[in-house]
Amino acid sequence: MVDAALDDADVIVVGAGPAGSAAAFHCASAGLDVLLLEKSEFPRDKICGDGLTPRAVAELVRMGLPIREQDGWIRNRGLRVLGGGHRLELEWPELSSYPSYGLAKSRMSLDHTLVDHARSAGAKLQERTNVTGAVRDERSGRVVGVTAKTEDGAATYRAPVVIAADGVSARLATGMGLEKRMDRPMGVAVRTYFRTPRHDDAWMESHLELWDGVPHKSNLMPGYGWIFALGDGTANVGLGSVSSTAAATKVDYKSLFAKWMANAPAEWEFTPDNQVGPVRGAALPMGFNRGPLYGNGLMLVGDSAGMISPFNGEGIAYGLQAGRVAADAIAQGLARGTAAGRERAFATYQGRMKDDLGGYYTLGRIFVRLIEHPEIMRVCTRYGLPRPLVMKFVLKLLSDCYEPRGGDLVDRVISGLSRLAPAA
Ligand SMILES: Cc1cc2nc3c(=O)[nH]c(=O)nc-3n(C[C@H](O)[C@H](O)[C@H](O)COP(=O)(O)OP(=O)(O)OC[C@H]3O[C@@H](n4cnc5c(N)ncnc54)[C@H](O)[C@@H]3O)c2cc1C
Repeated sequence: MVDAALDDADVIVVGAGPAGSAAAFHCASAGLDVLLLEKSEFPRDKICGDGLTPRAVAELVRMGLPIREQDGWIRNRGLRVLGGGHRLELEWPELSSYPSYGLAKSRMSLDHTLVDHARSAGAKLQERTNVTGAVRDERSGRVVGVTAKTEDGAATYRAPVVIAADGVSARLATGMGLEKRMDRPMGVAVRTYFRTPRHDDAWMESHLELWDGVPHKSNLMPGYGWIFALGDGTANVGLGSVSSTAAATKVDYKSLFAKWMANAPAEWEFTPDNQVGPVRGAALPMGFNRGPLYGNGLMLVGDSAGMISPFNGEGIAYGLQAGRVAADAIAQGLARGTAAGRERAFATYQGRMKDDLGGYYTLGRIFVRLIEHPEIMRVCTRYGLPRPLVMKFVLKLLSDCYEPRGGDLVDRVISGLSRLAPAA
């Protein structure tokens, strides 16, 4: 479909994480010529918790990705929550919109699987290509390609539209003057891997309280922890915290992690001998912290637009969704006969993402402002956890797994609140 003599592709996608690979897959499946530029080489690591909720699973199903256990996935039944002296197991809900199970896979493997899937749909992947900036039309200022450093030196690639999927660094968008918003939540988290006999645990485990000594007999530390079993002999173990603005926190997360591990339940065997790789951290940009999602030939998907949920730190589902919606807007736009028609179709991307997630993320920002106060969090943990209806509500709200239309009372309350909250 490349028709302009100067173009290298119909669409250039920068970054082959989940958002970029999904965008590349869906564009290629729609018959477009896709150039996917990635600075590293697969398989490559990405600091993450490696956990996928039913919402992410639904996106993988839409992509036709094989997700059977023999394909290297482990399924989980729901969330085990520990806090306030309680230990609850909450099954993923039975809904018509999402499956009732989650998945986990190390990002080393997940991202490789996704990029291979995009390639098999026809996307052209070019690794070891570090994109350095946008190429802009001199008169209109519109993005018409990118510059990059490759093994062979500097290179330029051109296309009528560019998707920035370059993650939290957002180099491409920042280079265009699209700075992150300071009034949006930002998380910070660290993680490592451990060999553990409980590597095939059927639950995603979440620790709402982290103690600096013997649990319940020592001091509470800031942040929340997770243990996500990977089914391959290991588990991903991490902790993080979130604040309502992008201002840097002074928390020493690695030292928190060491204290938490020193007191972690013995049955997991999280000993120094069993640790695989160092404790590494990264930021989690949340609640649409950068935009516009489309303008001047540049579309932002995933972490580059701060699409992580303020409720639970999940970003893969939203990156996959953004890639799908962006690809649809691009395929529609490139099929129009005029530049104005093309721009109108491209611009629907932002509207569709904000209609679906804007109100929900506004609620998420209120949620973060509340849980920032340890005393509020403690009251919620103590009084909320023993109440099944409250916890059903909390699970559906925090995991974004509720029936968008209809459903039970809990579904209707959450979807009603999300619709009432202004998308900003
Ligand atoms: C500690 C931690 C735990 C988390 N746990 C979870 C979890 O359990 N579940 C979940 O859903 N989410 C989790 N997240 C969030 C999740 O990791 C991100 O939301 C997700 O990776 C976003 O995907 P992406 O494709 O937008 O960006 P990325 O996954 O960051 O991919 C960006 C890609 O772009 C490439 N790139 C960057 N710059 C350039 C450039 N200049 N040129 C070319 N290529 C470039 C990178 O190499 C990379 O391949 C966690 C995050 C952190 C930090």
